[in-house]
Amino acid sequence: MTNPPPPSAVAPTGLIARLRILAIAICATAVGCTAATLPIAPDTPARAQSGGERSAGVTGGKAVLLAAYPGAFRFEGNAIVFKNGQRVVWDDGRAKTPAEKLTDADVEDMLSTPYPLARRGARTPSPGEDPGRVRSDAFFKALYGGSEAAVRDDLARVPFVPGLGGGSLTVTTRFGVDKRIAAISRDLERLPPQFHKYLVPPGGAFNWRAIAGTSRLSVHSFGAAVDINTKYSDYWRWAGHTGGGAIPYSNRIPLEIVEVFEKHCFIWGGRWYHYDTMHFEYRPELIPACHR
Ligand SMILES: [Zn+2]
Repeated sequence: MTNPPPPSAVAPTGLIARLRILAIAICATAVGCTAATLPIAPDTPARAQSGGERSAGVTGGKAVLLAAYPGAFRFEGNAIVFKNGQRVVWDDGRAKTPAEKLTDADVEDMLSTPYPLARRGARTPSPGEDPGRVRSDAFFKALYGGSEAAVRDDLARVPFVPGLGGGSLTVTTRFGVDKRIAAISRDLERLPPQFHKYLVPPGGAFNWRAIAGTSRLSVHSFGAAVDINTKYSDYWRWAGHTGGGAIPYSNRIPLEIVEVFEKHCFIWGGRWYHYDTMHFEYRPELIPACHR
């Protein structure tokens, strides 16, 4: 699969795009401005028409998805149709609790919780607030490969903060993830020295495995997730929680590091009630600047 240009290289056009730029300019100076304040206009037509003419006129969450993964698929009614003909259901029509979304998500469910960008500042996620943790395995398999062997066909080793002794990480080349990690690495190396300890040694990237305690695949399985230094990270399961009862939030990762990853369309597991603060994954559909 060819790598699209970074979203920042795509010039938005039209009145809605101009209004959005204005909103972003306002947002950049407003305290508490979040992704949730920059919703996709319900009448926004799908800008990325490379998926085929049948996607023309697609709006809302479908338009977000098309713009986030340009050229990867098109919509036919309730079906997401990939280039190889593979079809994934967009909306199964079922109302779900947050717990049910985690265990049985359709693609539409993946967009149901806004992701709060780092510029919103430190915050404690509410119970059940797991933006991005809701994922459709079928959708990710169609994006990156349906088996470990298929994913491995498109992996590359990328130096990760080599100037700080970070070594390298194995990630997918699909959607330019390898190039994005290289850009993240360059930006992270420019951070002041007090941030370096959080980065090295990195915890890893590609690893075909289920999420602990579940049968669902981790995004590490697809080479689209990265863990930074585990020594300074917090993970809800490490804290002795099993899923029942309250989970007190814990984080030591500076938001300056999170901002670097978000700039390149990776979300942070530290925004989850079921927190995983070492974890970053490529999710352009959840970051407004990455699907315009
Ligand atoms: Zn991880």
